[in-house]
Amino acid sequence: DESLILNIHITPYNNDQRLVMIRDVTERYRLERVRQDFVANVSHELRTPLTVINGYLEVLDPDMYPELSKVEKPLQMMRQQALNMGHLVDDLLLLSRLDAKEPSLGGKPQLIDINIMLDSICAEARVLSGEKSQTILFHSHSSATLTGSEKQLRSAFSNLVFNAVRYTQQEGRIDIFWKETQNHLVMTVKDNGPGIEQEHIPRLTERFYRVDSGRNRSQGGTGLGLAIVKHVLEMHDGYLEVDSTVGKGSEFSCYFPKSS
Ligand code: ADP
Repeated sequence: DESLILNIHITPYNNDQRLVMIRDVTERYRLERVRQDFVANVSHELRTPLTVINGYLEVLDPDMYPELSKVEKPLQMMRQQALNMGHLVDDLLLLSRLDAKEPSLGGKPQLIDINIMLDSICAEARVLSGEKSQTILFHSHSSATLTGSEKQLRSAFSNLVFNAVRYTQQEGRIDIFWKETQNHLVMTVKDNGPGIEQEHIPRLTERFYRVDSGRNRSQGGTGLGLAIVKHVLEMHDGYLEVDSTVGKGSEFSCYFPKSS
């Protein structure tokens, strides 16, 4: 439509005067909108071919067609890559929905028992950890619930916990906490993994930002995990804090306001 979007700043100036600054940001908003729509459309369009590829890969089973045993390894790689791409498309789609602040996303706000949620994420993390034999423990110091989207919060917390599992070495230690401070409810994931250099920390929640792209891609992540976490927390009036020391480990904390 024809309407303008303006940014207006009013500041005191020379005693009894005011300085008024008006900036026309219509074009910036329009471009942002185009970008959001583009990402949403691309991720949506990638779904269909991916479903077809996955469908055929499932049928190409060397157990049923012995002549396929020669190409078992390539088939295995194709399956793995199709799986990775599926995760990427899912993450892109979720992120673009979060980005557009789609009101219906995640359904009606619900009362969520965080202890039950973190307990089950912890159990999944142990499965993911598998042969790494890490110690993964959940410490509940609060029985507080949160109101919000169960699906979104599960996705945010899983991203943090699964990252800890992925980036922490064998026999490492991962502690998950649910606690209260005076003003906040806090979910923390602490690991004794490699840690992250200070210079990278402010950029971690950018899309596709990775500390070591070559190495991390092989760990199976999409590079969108922490961007999703940041958006989900914003949708719940919360924020993320990262504290990390190279060689010692990392701590990711999600802060939520205590409901008023
Ligand atoms: P990815 O899919 O690559 O894990 P994320 O957005 O989840 O993407 O994380 C961004 C980057 O932050 C990762 O590539 C990794 O370099 C770093 N990172 C995240 N969590 C940890 C952690 N627990 N320990 C060390 N590095 C981490």
